[in-house]
Amino acid sequence: MTTTQRFATSCIHAGQQPDLLSGALMTPVYFTSTYIQEGLNQHRGYEYARTRNPTRDAVEGNLAALEGADFGVAFASGLAATQAVLELLSSGDHLVLGDNVYGGTFRLVDKIMARFGLTYTQVDTSDLAALRGAIQPHTKLVMLETPTNPMLGLTDIAAVRGLLKELGTRALLAVDNTFATPFNQRPLELGADLVFHSTTKYLNGHSDSIGGVVVTNSLELSERLHFIQNAAGAILSPMDSWLVLRGTKTLHLRMERHNKNALEIARWLSQRKDLKAVYYPGLESHPQHELARRQMKGFSGIVSFDTGDAERTRRMAAAFKIFALAESLGGVESLICHPVSMTHGSVPEADRVQLGITDSLLRLSVGVEDVRDLIEDLERALKA
Ligand SMILES: *Cc1c(COP(=O)(O)O)cnc(C)c1O
Repeated sequence: MTTTQRFATSCIHAGQQPDLLSGALMTPVYFTSTYIQEGLNQHRGYEYARTRNPTRDAVEGNLAALEGADFGVAFASGLAATQAVLELLSSGDHLVLGDNVYGGTFRLVDKIMARFGLTYTQVDTSDLAALRGAIQPHTKLVMLETPTNPMLGLTDIAAVRGLLKELGTRALLAVDNTFATPFNQRPLELGADLVFHSTTKYLNGHSDSIGGVVVTNSLELSERLHFIQNAAGAILSPMDSWLVLRGTKTLHLRMERHNKNALEIARWLSQRKDLKAVYYPGLESHPQHELARRQMKGFSGIVSFDTGDAERTRRMAAAFKIFALAESLGGVESLICHPVSMTHGSVPEADRVQLGITDSLLRLSVGVEDVRDLIEDLERALKA
């Protein structure tokens, strides 16, 4: 039923069916830890709610359909989903990790997984020659993000798949699609084996839940991920499953507006003479704009810009009336973030500077408000 549906229809319907007991059209929140069994080994597929829950089943089916995947496995947070992907590996395996991945992803690899014998190399995955050099015989996974946070650099997913094929490695390719969302970019169709998300961001979209998901077309990988989900226990709760289901019903509508508002704001910012740089894949001035047009349907709602003046950036950050100064992104409301003092504080200064994450950089998560109000807010803050 879901495979032939178009994206907007899948957002609203995929993974869901009217409740068998009452006919309730909306999936109920199944608050239960256990299920009655009619006799020994006689049950309806539900034994204990860490293992399975009908609300979670529904959101897993929904999120899988949105990425064009056969299987979805939902977790308690984006990082729990990331960890589940990493737990497909074993001690002694080698991981190639993008050099500008989410800070928490790096911390998880560097401070936890590495203690269990996972080795890793960080590399700019947009540089295919560098990536080629980083792949080792025991590399089992390449994990990357595109676009990256907060510099909005892109990696050509199909080209990475081509390289892995050419090298004859069996390393899996996992893409964090949180920033783009499946509305704008579908990594499985470009050759990824696994796609994962922080549903906390655009998929839920209302800044009221923490969650994560991994999707794949491989039955074998999905079975291993469900095993990890049950064995390690970092499951998405029934309430959060329901919130994400509610969120994805409007994903297509929200992303259309996020894309439109962000492009308009990026263009407006890039016409100003008093800014050092504006980063947005939808701008012709973005060094990978060509790739962005090829790989993405829209360019999502994150725009970064550098005033070139740390003092001015500090004043600005406190002067917004609509953009809220807060971590996170992807909600209907607009947020502003100062990466150096907020999300990227733990990145060593030398690495930060090399990536372009300066003291004077600000990152916008452009919401779905009226863009004229957002631009007025920016104008006011830029005058501060
Ligand atoms: C937020 C985020 C994560 C982590 O997700 P949580 O839900 O906060 O655990 C991972 N990757 C990206 C790109 C993110 O933005």
